[in-house]
Amino acid sequence: MASAETPKLWNFSAGPAILPPVVFERAAEAVRELRADGHAATAPGVGLSILEISHRSKPYEAVTFGAEQLCHDVLGIPETHQVLFLQGGASLQFAMLAMNLREAGKPAAYIDTGVWSQKAIAESQGLGETTVIASSAASNYDRIPAFPPAEAYANASYLHITTNNTIFGTEYAEIPEAAGGVPLVIDFSSHAGSRPMALERAAFGYAGAQKNLGPSGVTLVYIRKDLLNKKPAAHVPVVLRYATHAKEPSLYNTPNTFGVLVLKLVLEWMRDQGGMPAIAAVNERKAGQLYATLDRSQVFRAHAQPGSRSRMNVTWTANGAPEAEREALSSRFLKEAQKAGFDGLKGHRLVGGFRASIYNAFPEAGVAALCEFMAEFERRL
Ligand SMILES: *Cc1c(COP(=O)(O)O)cnc(C)c1O
Repeated sequence: MASAETPKLWNFSAGPAILPPVVFERAAEAVRELRADGHAATAPGVGLSILEISHRSKPYEAVTFGAEQLCHDVLGIPETHQVLFLQGGASLQFAMLAMNLREAGKPAAYIDTGVWSQKAIAESQGLGETTVIASSAASNYDRIPAFPPAEAYANASYLHITTNNTIFGTEYAEIPEAAGGVPLVIDFSSHAGSRPMALERAAFGYAGAQKNLGPSGVTLVYIRKDLLNKKPAAHVPVVLRYATHAKEPSLYNTPNTFGVLVLKLVLEWMRDQGGMPAIAAVNERKAGQLYATLDRSQVFRAHAQPGSRSRMNVTWTANGAPEAEREALSSRFLKEAQKAGFDGLKGHRLVGGFRASIYNAFPEAGVAALCEFMAEFERRL
């Protein structure tokens, strides 16, 4: 756990990700004894730990329903949509949404912006006709492709997009609007809660909490309520139906009670920071400083193109250096960075180079320290 001031390591991990220090303190307290009113800071203890209390108890109901309400109030999920806390990660949603939202005789449409899109596409392909209507594969996913015209997905059961691409470091500048009433489906795992977003444009959205919202083991799902009554194209097992989990919201079977509590604490922290606008301003400054450093560099090159750059996952290579020197230079940079306390900067093998995940709880001071380190590394070359 990083202390706010001078951590031993700056944690640039893509996920499980850094969380605010106050959340660690409040969660540790709830492990010793949960407080009433959804673990409100001034409420009395209930005599049991969050790890042992029944998910059917009043104190836990206050946790889960409190977290649900905060998803509406802080993240801006509209009241027309049901919020669910599920298990199985965002990866289970690739399959679950394809089972539940596919309508008989209608293909599912996808936009391919990288690894996570492809995994979602693969699950859909196993279940029925799937069309990929746009892709940025040709440029190694360094951008978000232009949003296709309505004809491209006019007859689709739904249109699926990955709004922030954790591995390649690209992000939709805005959530697009799907035409013709086709339900838009978004995987917003790695930038959920990072800025104000038009979440109402999506009929269905999902996010693995461990990127920006909390610990692993909880997936935030939101679904427009009319979709809960839609008849899927084929049989869906009871436990995999959204309608099952919506009936007793997120209490059909034993939920990840601890994970939901931590999610609630993170949402309260976001609210106390000033909510989405205040959080977005900080994220904008952090990403801006890092991209400015990269754009000034003679050695490093940002992977994502301007207009498609993620504010959460910044990817870059040493492609500014002569080709013969890139590999040695990259490993030297990583080694020296690690020694200087910058942890988790190794890029995904598909991009190579480096990735700095700078989620909400990542301090501005850590970004400034990295920028300074990069400039100093370059001066020494
Ligand atoms: C991490 C990630 C996933 C996979 O999440 P799991 O919770 O590990 O299944 C899916 N989509 C995106 C965009 C991700 O960043």
